[in-house]
Amino acid sequence: MVNERSPRGGARGKLRAHFLANIGRVMDSEELREIAGGQSEWARRVRELRTEEGYLILTHNDRSDLKPGQYLLENPKPQPAFERAISKETRAFVLDRNGFTCQMCGAVAGEPHPYDPTRKTRLHIGHIIDKSKGGSDDPSNLRAICSVCNEGAQNATLIRPDLKHLLAQIRRATAADQLEALKWLISKFPKQTAEEIAAKNK
Ligand SMILES: [Zn+2]
Repeated sequence: MVNERSPRGGARGKLRAHFLANIGRVMDSEELREIAGGQSEWARRVRELRTEEGYLILTHNDRSDLKPGQYLLENPKPQPAFERAISKETRAFVLDRNGFTCQMCGAVAGEPHPYDPTRKTRLHIGHIIDKSKGGSDDPSNLRAICSVCNEGAQNATLIRPDLKHLLAQIRRATAADQLEALKWLISKFPKQTAEEIAAKNK
């Protein structure tokens, strides 16, 4: 799919074709400038591929093993148009509601990804009920999903656990892990923690 603003020819088209022909290979700015025909605006064209066409071109801001000036496209599938059409307000609302945490794997925005520590967690907005199953673009049907889950690298069985299963998991964990979970919950809910302690000491 090519929209009107991205003709196949021109620097952007050449860069798009080059990225798609080199999935998974790290490229530097020299190479990309050359592909763009020596055009000084090549970096802007790369940015457009990302922001306007939704290609997840990674830089050192996304992965700690990339140096400044290095670019990498791992996934040929651009982000869906709906995500690019979401307003800044809706995006901020959904991310805030989800505590800037991936709702599938629990990765936190900006932190190293738990399943791939070389990658910084970058959050996207995804549907709770898929559009193909009648889900809407309303904020109530949107959630934060990290790029790893978004790319389907993690399998979809990582669904949110219900309370019964979550407590069962915690009870089976080691005391050390239970204490780690406790620390995490205290840092997430400091006010409620203080209230619980105060209520217990009455
Ligand atoms: Zn995730």
